[in-house]
Formats: sequence, structure tokens, C-alpha cells
Amino acid sequence: MDQNRLIEEAATYIARARKLVAFTGAGVSAESGIPTFRDPGGLWDRFDPVELGGGDIFTSLFSGAKVPQAAIGFVSEMVEVLERAHPNPGHLALAELERMGILRTVITQNIDNLHREAGNTDVIEVHGNIYRLACMVCGNRFMLEREELFAMGRELVEMLRAGDIQGIIKVASRCGCGGVCRPDVVGFGEPVQDMPRAISEAQRADVLLILGTSGMVYPAAYIPEYARKAGARLVEINATGCYFQDLLEVGIVGKTGEVLPRVLERAKDLRNYSVF
Ligand SMILES: [Zn+2]
Repeated sequence: MDQNRLIEEAATYIARARKLVAFTGAGVSAESGIPTFRDPGGLWDRFDPVELGGGDIFTSLFSGAKVPQAAIGFVSEMVEVLERAHPNPGHLALAELERMGILRTVITQNIDNLHREAGNTDVIEVHGNIYRLACMVCGNRFMLEREELFAMGRELVEMLRAGDIQGIIKVASRCGCGGVCRPDVVGFGEPVQDMPRAISEAQRADVLLILGTSGMVYPAAYIPEYARKAGARLVEINATGCYFQDLLEVGIVGKTGEVLPRVLERAKDLRNYSVF
């Protein structure tokens, strides 16, 4: 089927939706310059996920243990990439769908905060958020402003380069309890966050929009199945192919930043000229 026809179908489902929920992955942020971790050339192609992707990296970083040399390049690249990233037309289309009263919740596997920055207010971040710190002693969480995060990130990279472990611990000690804070993101082998709420929102959706996720990272990848079993209609948009084909009403292969704004415009027309 040609893409215009598929966009028309997707727009019809979205225009009729009373409780649209979006489930997003790395593909949505790829157009903001954030490389997908698993693709060729992505971070896990060049850095060892076992060495750097586990939660242990934070524990060792802030406890004065020896920091692996590769961590310096990894942290420095993450800081640079995230600082350059801003919401793209895909993120902005989701924010517009929320303002229209159609989209209720975004469930994302991304840690980059770009859905909130775009204007979505109910965002469930199952893999955490790099803009949030969590105290490793009392569990308190703190949201950082953009400027604050990157000033801290650059300071951290300098200290890593200089091998200044005490400096790193000092910068990270900002909880009232005196505890050291780590980025509140989920490392390999660590439990996902807010999964019960993500599942319940997916089950309450009448339409689930699956965007830019290859469905390879569990348990988050079960979300479409939960939605489908509870009666939702599923629409998928992904640049690299549709990965939930068996569950879908409509699957569109294309960049979310290009396709979703077109679906949104068409959904607006349909709502203006009909009784949805
Ligand atoms: Zn604390």
C-alpha cells in the first residue's frame, strides 16, 4: 500500500481516539542527533555495554574505585550528544496531540527528556531520565535544569580526565542527607521504572501509537501486547521497519519526524470536518 493511504488510515484511528497512548523508543530521538545504542556505529557498537552499561559504573565512579579508561570517552560523548539534542518534529507532534486532548500519556524508553522538553506532561520513563539524579543513600530524586546538567557533565568529564576521584564525589554529593547522587537511568541488569503504571496506561488506551522502537528491550517491549490484549488498536511508525506487525492495524515505514507531523495534520482535518 502506498504511504499516503497508510497515513490516511493512521490519521483516522488517531482522530477517533479518546485515549491515545504513545510508546516510543530510540528511533524518535535519532532525528535529534542521539544515536541509537544498538545500531551499527551506535554507542554499544563502539563501547562495551558490559563494562559501561551496567548500574555498577555509577557505584564504582562515586565510590573512589578505579574508573575504566573507556568511561571517559563514553561519558564525554554522551554529554556532547545530549547537550546538542532538542525536540524534533516527531516530539513536537506528540506535544500537539496532547494539547488537542487526544494523547494522554507517553511511555518512553528514552532517557533524553525530549518528550517533556517538547511539552508532553505525562511521560512515563521506563528506563529513567538523565536529567534526574537519585541519591544512592536515601533514594531522593532531583530534577536538573538543562544548564545545570551539562555544567555538571562537563565538570565530570574534566575530573575523569584528571583522575580527580575526590572532586567527582564532591560534585555528586548534593543530597540533604549527605549521600552521593547518580543519574537516575536504568543500567543493564537493573529493574525498569514505573512499569506497573506503564502497563495500566497501555491497557486503558483505545489506540496505541508505537514509534521508533525495535521491540528488542524487555520488559518494555511487552507494552504493545498488553495494549492489544486489552482491546487497543495499534499503529506503528518506524524508519527501520515495523516490528509489531502481527498486532498492528497500520504500520508505516518512515522516520517519525517526517511521518507523524503528516498524520497529525490529516487527523486535525478529519476532526474539523467530522463528528469524531
Ligand atoms: Zn539522600
